[in-house]
Amino acid sequence: MFEDVPALEDLPEVGGARVLVRADLNVPLSRSLSGDLLVADDFRLRAALPTLRWLLSRGARVTVATHLGRPKGRRDPNLSTDPLRQALGNLGEDVEVMENVRFDPGEEANDPRSGAALVRGQDLFVNDAFGACHRAHASIVYPPSVLPSAAGRLLHAELDALAHVIEAPRRPFTVVVGGAKVADKLGTIRALARKADRIVVGGAMAFTFLAARGREVGGSTVDASEIGHCEALLGSLDPNVTIELPVDAVAGKVAGGHDPSSYGEVRAFGEEIAAGWRGLDIGPQTRSRFAQAIDGSATVLWNGPMGVFEDPRFSAGTRDVALAIAGCRGYTVAGGGDTLAAVRALDLVDSFDHLSTGGGAMLSLIEQGDLPGIAALREAGRRMRSQGAGRAAALHATRPLQARSR
Ligand code: ADP
Ligand code: MG
Repeated sequence: MFEDVPALEDLPEVGGARVLVRADLNVPLSRSLSGDLLVADDFRLRAALPTLRWLLSRGARVTVATHLGRPKGRRDPNLSTDPLRQALGNLGEDVEVMENVRFDPGEEANDPRSGAALVRGQDLFVNDAFGACHRAHASIVYPPSVLPSAAGRLLHAELDALAHVIEAPRRPFTVVVGGAKVADKLGTIRALARKADRIVVGGAMAFTFLAARGREVGGSTVDASEIGHCEALLGSLDPNVTIELPVDAVAGKVAGGHDPSSYGEVRAFGEEIAAGWRGLDIGPQTRSRFAQAIDGSATVLWNGPMGVFEDPRFSAGTRDVALAIAGCRGYTVAGGGDTLAAVRALDLVDSFDHLSTGGGAMLSLIEQGDLPGIAALREAGRRMRSQGAGRAAALHATRPLQARSR
């Protein structure tokens, strides 16, 4: 389904060209003893290397653009890309690194003047920032509207992997959702309810579903404005689709505030949670039911932790679900910032078929089947074929654009 998204091989003449690469180098930073900002985890830098090396080895002059944190359109010295430039240099890559694209208020506003400033002096564009493709920001959609463009290796790997889940997932197809933001994810759950065989709901969002079923959830996090939507969703489910909601919970006594460390007392509850207690993880019975639902699935998609996994008292649900998915023989995908942090902390990175670098982007792609950044590349591909501009045109005119090059 993404065959018409141009790949690196579809770019005209890369040797000697100036190539703008929009990467997602949104890494965590930390401060050294001497006060310098350092890259705390270079996972995303290393993930960007295949594309950079492909271009550099062919003689391209590469400039990398990325966002870093949320500077909200203002210059913030704590979110400068200087540490990235240094870290990439240490990895031996001879590339230029632009300043944080989100210092410019025109980036998120998709101001064409910001886009024009980015592409000045560039010949080609490569988008390798899957995690930002669901946003119509200037650095994502403007360059492919004016330059011959392609998806980088990382972006193509995401599309290849997620196409397995979007197009014709092998059955039974189980979707596991959790985490905090029920309002953000309800649309995806609704879309997936039409495609999946089993839906497993944990995390904070489960309590809004349980409230919709009329259960007593005590002081658990409930999004009152979404109860009606959850009720409608539960009521309209295809009878062939099963939905698993928690049947027990591990709860913390509400001491005031949402700070997990402030839950002094912890106890287990069954179906109903007493007033004054907040459900912070799924309970033991739910853990085994969820593991059973996952076991034997031919496709599993997971986004969102089952509990406040950052606190070891509430991490068992996320651990057991992660282990069940890791042990499942089917095609397994996990995505989302916190979800991947949990997978990494559990040392299960190699046990998944695909770990998506995008949380929001992954869910939007699965929900809508397309993203603004992908559509912009597809459009660039169409232009590259029909205009036939430049030397490469003759080369490319007679064959379809390659999508699944590895
Ligand atoms: P992702 O980043 O993987 O998309 P989210 O950001 O949606 O996931 O959700 C992760 C957050 O949800 C974590 O910080 C976790 O502590 C929180 N969370 C999970 N379960 C609960 C719960 N029962 N109550 C409160 N917060 C929860
Ligand atoms: Mg998150």
